[in-house]
Amino acid sequence: MSASVNQTDAGAAAPAKPPLEILLCAPRGFCAGVVRAIDVVERALALYGPPVYVRHEIVHNKYVVESLKRKGAVFVAELDEVPDGTAPVIFSAHGVAKTVPQNAVARGLTTIDATCPLVTKVHREAEIHHKRGRHVLLVGHSGHPEVVGTMGQLPKGSITLVEDVEQIEALEPESRDNLAWVTQTTLSVDDTRHVVEALKRKFPTIVGPHKDDICYATTNRQEAVKQVAPLVDALIVVGSSNSSNSQRLREVAERVGCPITRLVNRAEDVDWEAFSNIRRLGLTAGASAPEVLVEEIIDAFATRYEVTVDTVSTTTEDMVFPLPRELRSEAAE
Ligand code: SF4
Repeated sequence: MSASVNQTDAGAAAPAKPPLEILLCAPRGFCAGVVRAIDVVERALALYGPPVYVRHEIVHNKYVVESLKRKGAVFVAELDEVPDGTAPVIFSAHGVAKTVPQNAVARGLTTIDATCPLVTKVHREAEIHHKRGRHVLLVGHSGHPEVVGTMGQLPKGSITLVEDVEQIEALEPESRDNLAWVTQTTLSVDDTRHVVEALKRKFPTIVGPHKDDICYATTNRQEAVKQVAPLVDALIVVGSSNSSNSQRLREVAERVGCPITRLVNRAEDVDWEAFSNIRRLGLTAGASAPEVLVEEIIDAFATRYEVTVDTVSTTTEDMVFPLPRELRSEAAE
């Protein structure tokens, strides 16, 4: 021990760091819906001045939420925490039940909807099925805000949540020949395929989307992880634990046999013990995780390893969603 201290004191070269190749998945990180939702809060702050209220986390990422809080956004769980007045209330990217904007309008609140257009598309699908007299089965995860919002598009009793294949066995809807299905946008592509196949087996006349409602960003990030995970000793997904698409990315890596998979918020959350003997690391980020946190993690590995970084790209993305109309003129300024 003292020998190593003396060596350092004498300015001798530090022991060489072990090599580590990082394979960066592409696409990764922010999707068009998240970029739009964050823009909505920032534009609203510029237009109305702080505070602006945001019902639920605008996107599921702590870093994003904390940085918007510092700019004057106030996050609330429910509308009754928003005081009467002119400060606007923004609905998060995950979407809300119909009663939420109705209650806001009844109170005279100014509302801005940051629901991702791809979630709104699922809402409209569910509504159309309902108008045509079909009972809707929503494939998704109980309790997720997007599921709460989609269930809340239709009257109680006209939409049923299906979480997995096992639940389908027990499903006995009244009108089994008049059914439709829709899905949450951030599910596992493979799990959902199995659930939909089971639905079609049990209810051959059920109607639904051509493939599913899983969004392009979720699909592309899972595909990139499928390519990278078999090539690496460990894979890190940058994202928050309440982010559905981030959790699914870690599961995808685990299922293709990656021995070590972790979902981490930031570099300070990395379990260094688990990564002590690796030579190749896969790195991706959920759709709500900013690139700065990916860079932070690469920098943290670079203090312990001689790092080289390569990108494995499975597709490119150019999706952009326009801001809500009420913010567009401000956006142009
Ligand atoms: S993950 Fe998909 S559905 Fe969710 S905000 Fe991004 S693009 Fe929209």
